[in-house]
Amino acid sequence: MRILVQKFGGTSLANPERRAQVAAKVSEAINQGFSPVVVVSAIGRSGDPYATDTLIKMVSSIYSEVPKREMDLLLSCGEIISGSIMVSTLQGLGLEAVLLTGGQAGIITNSSFGDARIVRIEPENILEQLKEGKVVVITGFQGMTENGQITTLGRGGSDTTACSIGVALNAEAIDIYTDVEGIMTADPRIVQDAKILDVITYNDICHLAHQGAKVIHPRAVEIAMQKNIPLRVKCTFSDAPGTLVTNVQPDLAEGSDMIGDRIITGIAHTPNVTQIKIHVQEEENKPKAITKIFKGMALADISVDFISVQPETVLYTVRDELAKKAVNILKNLGFNPESAPGCAKIALVGGGIADVPGVMANMAEALAESGIEILQSADSHTTIWVLVKKEHMVPAVQSLHKKFELGI
Ligand code: ADP
Ligand code: MG
Repeated sequence: MRILVQKFGGTSLANPERRAQVAAKVSEAINQGFSPVVVVSAIGRSGDPYATDTLIKMVSSIYSEVPKREMDLLLSCGEIISGSIMVSTLQGLGLEAVLLTGGQAGIITNSSFGDARIVRIEPENILEQLKEGKVVVITGFQGMTENGQITTLGRGGSDTTACSIGVALNAEAIDIYTDVEGIMTADPRIVQDAKILDVITYNDICHLAHQGAKVIHPRAVEIAMQKNIPLRVKCTFSDAPGTLVTNVQPDLAEGSDMIGDRIITGIAHTPNVTQIKIHVQEEENKPKAITKIFKGMALADISVDFISVQPETVLYTVRDELAKKAVNILKNLGFNPESAPGCAKIALVGGGIADVPGVMANMAEALAESGIEILQSADSHTTIWVLVKKEHMVPAVQSLHKKFELGI
């Protein structure tokens, strides 16, 4: 059996015309000899009737502290609705289809409601249905605990479902269908000439996704990478070949966008972060103070980023919505923190960054030419990050995209 996992995001399922296009992609896979496993997200985006964000608002407007277990039960309905509609759409075209919830598909998770981790997958049920010649539609973003509680997998959960199922079934490929024609050098919503990448490595897309490129969830990429299952990001509404996510393979270089030749692969951005600055007093025991700061954040479940510990100062960022809490904790611990809300993080990602001198020089020059101040920077062998004010985020991404000629 040649199994192909096809995942369709919320916008791809938003109306009957689009769902017909989804069904056409499923038919195409069958005609090519595949047994398709179709993973669906909830229909639409925030504001649409059954979108995940809409469901959250529906109950949190009644009571702000909805129990997590009940919230997960509610959220799991979004995908059940879209899955049922998709099964009917496929049946209407004469294709035998069956809907499985996460639990019915054998996705066993821990009990961290709202952000559950997959413990294992028991694929027997899916395989049985596939053997009967049915298209198996699976509700994305959800699983079930050992004792039958419904859980959700957190943001990007449907991508995670698709990749986990792909790995569990040893699928020939995992196709992530969305509303853009592939993975691009930057978010096409802010860079008009963002270029579609033919090929990208698991590592590069993982870094880009961690840094805010929303096109696929990094956790999903990491899962597909475990078994080297080819991952493709494609558009539901066109026949464009999309982007292949894979390891570097020499034969891919021929005639295609050679992975190894790129210094910079792409740019990602994360808005809405707050920079926190703490002056560590000279007389204080510095190692102890630094430990106190980060333990304080960890105990409150505040994830910190962009950490820079200098002799007199500790700098880091937190998400804007957690800034108040972070500052209060620091004050209670006896520190006098300064906070700068409304910042954005820009990440330049590429396998060649470490080896090529002058990347930071070009980055600094591009930003200076656009009058953009760098508030903080950091680098690794694959990424250079800068923190800028929120109003500089879009021009910063645009000017870097131009400087590194990513659109060409
Ligand atoms: P879906 O509902 O199909 O999961 P998402 O909204 O999660 O769709 O992801 C697709 C969106 O990701 C695109 O519409 C695009 O605006 C955004 N995006 C951000 N960065 C990139 C990038 N580097 N390449 C492609 N799309 C990107
Ligand atoms: Mg998505």
